[in-house]
Amino acid sequence: MSSFDPARITIPCAHFLHGRQVCDDAALEVRRPADGQAYAGLPLADAERVDEAVISARQAFRRANWARCAPRERARIMRRWADLIEADIDYLAALEALGSTRPIDQARAWDVPYTAEGIRFFAEFSDKHGGEVAATAHDSLGMQIAEPLGVVGAIAPWNFPLSMTCWKVAPALAAGNTVVLKPSEMTPFTAVRLAELAIEAGMPPGVFNVIQGDGPTTGDALCRHPDVAKITFTGSTVTGRAIMGACAETGPKPVTLELGGKSPQLVFGDIPDLDRTAKTLAAAITGNAGQVCVAGSRLLIERSLLEPMIERLSARFDDLAPGLTWQAGTRFSPIISETQTGRLESIIRRAREAGAELITGGARFETEFGGCFYRPTILQVDDSDNPAVHEEIFGPVLTVQAFDSEEEALALAEHEVYGLAAGVHTADLGRALRAVRHLSAGTVWVNRYGRSNDYILPTGGYKRSGIGRDLGRAAFEANLHHKSVLIDLNP
Ligand code: NAD
Repeated sequence: MSSFDPARITIPCAHFLHGRQVCDDAALEVRRPADGQAYAGLPLADAERVDEAVISARQAFRRANWARCAPRERARIMRRWADLIEADIDYLAALEALGSTRPIDQARAWDVPYTAEGIRFFAEFSDKHGGEVAATAHDSLGMQIAEPLGVVGAIAPWNFPLSMTCWKVAPALAAGNTVVLKPSEMTPFTAVRLAELAIEAGMPPGVFNVIQGDGPTTGDALCRHPDVAKITFTGSTVTGRAIMGACAETGPKPVTLELGGKSPQLVFGDIPDLDRTAKTLAAAITGNAGQVCVAGSRLLIERSLLEPMIERLSARFDDLAPGLTWQAGTRFSPIISETQTGRLESIIRRAREAGAELITGGARFETEFGGCFYRPTILQVDDSDNPAVHEEIFGPVLTVQAFDSEEEALALAEHEVYGLAAGVHTADLGRALRAVRHLSAGTVWVNRYGRSNDYILPTGGYKRSGIGRDLGRAAFEANLHHKSVLIDLNP
């Protein structure tokens, strides 16, 4: 049993600067999504605190020997960090489950081990990359040397707080940079524990700092800080735009932006097993209650399968029940906040006014324990301009549109703003590959939906779903400069 009493969990309500927790007066209230209770106060780093964190990271970059230590030693410290994270699973998983939308069973089975293994994955690049010798004239030697950027500013969202921290922080550290991370003000605490464990693993103080606060004050100050060499951000497209603007005004400096999505799932009439595909489709929009950047939120289905698939999906959706995130057995997540639930309700209302037909769901769950839980919802839609098809809802809401030909399916799949991921379900290999070629998406899954634990495949967006890539070698490379060196051999 992994149920726990949330009142017994110690909350690290602090920044983490230069190797230790630093407390300020609480400025923001942090609530548990599962029951809506305020459980901690959060300090808000102003420009001065942000400056202190950046100075700590800059000094660590220059003096702590992180960038210059033997790369194998850097990798060893990061691997030890991953081991300590796994060993701390009872506390880390509980802290994550208490303060985020992740049920405890899932935090233990996936979030904590996935985070540790992601750190190991990037650690392994530390000593397995180099520059190159270039084809210069015979009397010279031309080389490209890879070097870390300096201080990387990382800004993370609230969905999957642990693993998103890993995606932002681990490649930057493995490449020899130092980092100042701002977690989401809604899920701020597991990052502090990660930073403590990094120190225990032997990472020098100042290499990984955490500053707490909101976007407009703390996040913006981090983006504008002149000594921050790069910003790596995961969050909404609107915020990504603001961050890019701030980095342009005060830099320019490079950005990696992992942004929103509205990902289609194309289901063709030749799929061999309707039940298996129904299971995949349902999981793709109800996992974490749809609060997943790559949620498969738009089902495009060949007309002959429309009725039987809706029947199967409705049965699966109706089987999900709310539960406290600290109770073993809870499978369905709360919505992160009352504000986000209100936003979701507003889009559904507008969608129905614009002609969407409600098939199932469309309301909150009533619970004894509070929190915001939204019923998994299916909206059947004819018009691609409908708000539910167009806007990222970030909740358990699936739109369904029927098509009559492959051409129509591919046209419907195109979204004018987003291009994060897509799914194709068919038994016809040629059709699958035609779809892969056609779809504007950073990731296309065929006869599955969702990532495996292969960290090597990069993830990122086409269109306004982002710039750059997380995961894979690309994420590591994005944290390096390349210096060209030309040496005259005949002095
Ligand atoms: P958000 O954009 O509201 O906030 C993300 C982070 O940015 C938070 O830490 C926030 O405090 C900070 N922030 C807000 N305004 C800022 C500003 N002006 N300057 C600097 N920082 C600022 O996003 P969210 O609601 O936390 O997360 C959900 C969004 O994240 C969804 O759109 C989802 O699709 C996206 N997301 C994308 C990926 C991906 O890999 N593409 C992964 C997870 C989530």
